[in-house]
Amino acid sequence: MIEDLFPEAVQDDAAVDPGLRPRTLREYVGQEDVKRGLELFIRAARERREALDHVLLHGHPGLGKTTLAHIIAGELGVSLRATSGPVIERPGDLAAVLTNLQPGDVLFIDEIHRLSPVVEEILYPAMEDFQLDLVIGQGPGARTIKIDLPRFTLVGATTRAGLLTPPLRDRFGVVFRVDFYQPTDLTEIVLRSARLLGIEIDRAGAMEIARRSRGTPRVANRLLRRVRDYAQVRAEGAITREVADAALTMLEVDERGLDRMDRTILATIMDKFGGGPVGLETIATAVGEEKNTIEDVYEPYLIQQGYLHRTPRGRVATDLAYAHLNRRREP
Ligand code: ADP
Repeated sequence: MIEDLFPEAVQDDAAVDPGLRPRTLREYVGQEDVKRGLELFIRAARERREALDHVLLHGHPGLGKTTLAHIIAGELGVSLRATSGPVIERPGDLAAVLTNLQPGDVLFIDEIHRLSPVVEEILYPAMEDFQLDLVIGQGPGARTIKIDLPRFTLVGATTRAGLLTPPLRDRFGVVFRVDFYQPTDLTEIVLRSARLLGIEIDRAGAMEIARRSRGTPRVANRLLRRVRDYAQVRAEGAITREVADAALTMLEVDERGLDRMDRTILATIMDKFGGGPVGLETIATAVGEEKNTIEDVYEPYLIQQGYLHRTPRGRVATDLAYAHLNRRREP
């Protein structure tokens, strides 16, 4: 069924808290370069009454790529259809998605690097010439029919631009990278979410949550909800710095924002593999977590914060990691 190709799950956070997702570029906190670029390109497309060029957004999970896709559609005044790479299994699935678009629509494909090669082949002429080349039948009797598509804007999201095949990457006219957020921006996001959820919090409380949210709005919103629970039961509702600190400590999110799995990964590299280098697969097996989850969710922040190095021979725990976990490097 066509509905199966546009699963609600793609918009998971929105399903939890539909009101939390910023709807306009003005409401979207931080990422100034991305916003400035998008504002210009959206305005130019609107003035020319054309579809916006295809946009590729890359960045770690939870940094706001899906949110930006919705904002792009909103600012263009068109509808958004959201799907994801793994959901579109066969060429026919993509054909169904594309022929359901209205002129100017935004088609959002999350995890676009996970499209299969045969599906990607269909996407190339669709992106370039707004044409669908479908093969009907098999063997000598097979023929290709061309179907004209409405002009649309593809917004693709991926955790790393390097995961895309070069021909797919080349077909995006606009490419933006979303980065980890500064604590000041995350503080604004926490204050905004608290206001929308009716949570009482002071700026110092919001800063404490922001500082320990690994630069990621999705984590900040999740920790805010958990700290609210703690505040409600243990502290008469209001979130101050002290309440946030006590709640986060209980949740095992430490002073530097590392959680239990972050510390397990670092401790494993130090205690079992002499500090590294050690391969990702080996780490994944030792800590009992999916390799992809470690690579996409845990490792980027550990690397960005200087606890982990990625070398050609594997991962290495840094001196900072040893100091943070109170361990000595074996000579
Ligand atoms: P991604 O698609 O990159 O995994 P999402 O767009 O789903 O991330 O964002 C995760 C959550 O974080 C959303 O629910 C949204 O409310 C919030 N969020 C992300 N970016 C921002 C931002 N710049 N300002 C405010 N909230 C944000």
